[in-house]
This record gives sequence, C-alpha cells and structure tokens, in this order.
Amino acid sequence: MLRQPLLVLARSDRVKRLVTAMPVSSGIVSRYVPGEATGDAVDATRDLIEHGLHATLDFLGEDTLDREQADATVRAYLEVLSSLAERGLARNTEVSVKLSAVGQALPDNGEKVALENARTICHAARNAGTTVTVDMEDHTTTDSTLGILHELRKDFPETGAVLQAYLHRTEADCRDLAYEGSRVRLCKGAYAEPESVAFTDRQDVDKSYVRCLKVLMAGQGYPMVATHDPRMIDIAGALATRNGRAQGSYEYQMLFGIRPDEQRRLAEAGEKVRVYLPYGHEWYGYLMRRLAERPSNLRFFVRSLLSKK
Ligand SMILES: Cc1cc2nc3c(=O)[nH]c(=O)nc-3n(C[C@H](O)[C@H](O)[C@H](O)COP(=O)(O)OP(=O)(O)OC[C@H]3O[C@@H](n4cnc5c(N)ncnc54)[C@H](O)[C@@H]3O)c2cc1C
Repeated sequence: MLRQPLLVLARSDRVKRLVTAMPVSSGIVSRYVPGEATGDAVDATRDLIEHGLHATLDFLGEDTLDREQADATVRAYLEVLSSLAERGLARNTEVSVKLSAVGQALPDNGEKVALENARTICHAARNAGTTVTVDMEDHTTTDSTLGILHELRKDFPETGAVLQAYLHRTEADCRDLAYEGSRVRLCKGAYAEPESVAFTDRQDVDKSYVRCLKVLMAGQGYPMVATHDPRMIDIAGALATRNGRAQGSYEYQMLFGIRPDEQRRLAEAGEKVRVYLPYGHEWYGYLMRRLAERPSNLRFFVRSLLSKK
C-alpha cells in the first residue's frame, strides 16, 4: 500500500537532497549497492562467482538530459567490461543497461543517441566474451525501448530484453519475444504506473507473471526469471519441468543483497542463478525503488538518515 506514495515522494528534490547526503557505506545503501567504483563492482562480482553464481552489472544512472553524462556512462561500461575480461570474469558476467542513462531522454535525437551508445556497449561486451541486457523503465519508454532492442538485435541477437508483468501489454510482448535465441528477463515491474496501463493489485501482478512465465517457458527463447518471490520461483521450476527444459536452458535472477541464501540454495541445486549488481554514485532512484518494494526497511532507512553513517 505504501509502494506508490513512496515512489511519488522519491521524485521530490528535497527528499533526494536529504537521502543522497548519506554515504554509500551507510547500512541501507550498501545492503543493495556494493560500492561506487568499478573496482568495488568487480570485487563483488568475483565473490559471487566464487559462490557459484553469475552476475549482471548495472552502472547506476537514469533519465539523463546531458549528452556528456550519457557518454560518461558508456565509458564506465567499457571500463568495467575490459576489467572483467582482464580478470577472467566476463564469461559469468553480463551487463544491464538503462537506455535513459545513455541518452534515450535527450531532446531531439535521444533514441538515436541511445541506440548508438547501446551499440558501442554491445560491441565491447561481445569483444569481452559476454552480452548486454537492456533494462526496462517506466511505461512511457516501453515502445521506444523495444524498438531500440529490435535494432540492436539485428547486429547483436544475443542482447537480452526485459518485460514487466505488471503491464497489461506484457503477455502479448512475451509471445512476440519467445523466439529461438531470444533472451527475455521477466520481472514484476518497479515503477509507479497508472491503472490504465498496469495491474496495481499484487495478486493480479502475480497472476500476470505466471501467464507470462507460461508463454516464455513454452517458447523457444531463453527465459530469465527475475524474482525473489518463492511462489514464482517454484512455479518457474515446475513449468521448466513440464516443458522439458533442462537446467541451464533458463535462469533465475535476483538483486544483490536480496535473499542471498536463496540465490546460493538454487545454485547448489544446479540452477543457473544471476545476481543483478548495481554500482556507481547515482544510487538514489535504485535505492528508492527497493525501499518502496519493502516498506518494512523504512525504519532502518530513517535511522540511517538520522545518523548519516
Ligand atoms: C535481476 C532483476 C532485474 C530487474 N530488472 C528490472 C527492470 O529492468 N525493470 C523493472 O521495472 N524492474 C526490474 N526489476 C525489479 C522487479 O520488477 C521488482 O520490482 C523486484 O524484483 C521485486 O519483485 P519480486 O518479483 O521480487 O516480488 P515481490 O512480491 O516484490 O517480493 C517477493 C519477496 O522478495 C523479497 N523482496 C522483494 N523486494 C525486496 C527488497 N527491496 N528488499 C528486501 N526483500 C525484498 C521479499 O522477501 C518479498 O516478500 C528487476 C528485478 C530483478 C531481480
């Protein structure tokens, strides 16, 4: 019930100023974000891989209206990809990219800039021996993001898509994207969306998630089951079995810091598990979405804010 108001409050500049005055090392931030520097991300990745997990790295940032910032984000991805390759970690690690961080929201030619920037990152990922997944943002960007993904896949068919089960349109999008070689991450969706485009009741979102999973698991693509929800995880496993899918012909994905024991349990049971690992100084939007999902964290959050540790 608190989710939508918290996401709306997160857009206030005052709240943002207050929250970003906290250092990344403060408990509530470091629970979800292992650090700001490339080295922090690479160290955390190595640790995950040593525990039998895979990773997807997200250089934090979104909604940029500044071309220079978009280009800096591209450079950050190139740096981390080369660092992963040098350390032999790229085989188990891909990167997740938000198109709004690489220029999609720029006035005039945003989509063109985002496509070119994403292409540069895809190229570097391929050279490093890995791939890119294009994150999905709020519903006003869905068509644009899927359009850019379609263009990227002409040269880089391995590029992953993300679909959000809370949108009414997503079951149909799953059908469109369940073709051979198509990597599709299915998540519930993290933004404040209106009833006109999205299910707002949790049970309806879950039902949609299951319908979408059925389509993806029965299809020819590679489903990436991004959820911490034990029921959805069980259903995904049952659907994989029902569709004769071997372990490794789909994967589970979870966020860094959320249900780490479950991440390891699944990996020990032979499942492929990938952890989404965000890093960088632009952690505000990401942190607020995580808090909105889990209002029980609020008390801890307010304590961190007051102590500024
Ligand atoms: C790998 C990955 C990539 C994602 N990419 C995108 C994307 O591109 N676009 C997008 O809109 N969303 C993305 N999301 C976020 C997603 O849409 C959900 O907002 C988020 O995963 C919470 O939904 P849930 O499926 O875990 O189910 P929920 O019903 O929200 O949670 C199920 C259980 O998970 C645990 N949990 C969930 N969230 C938290 C939290 N913040 N803190 C502590 N425990 C928690 C709790 O035990 C909870 O009961 C991604 C999620 C993952 C795992």
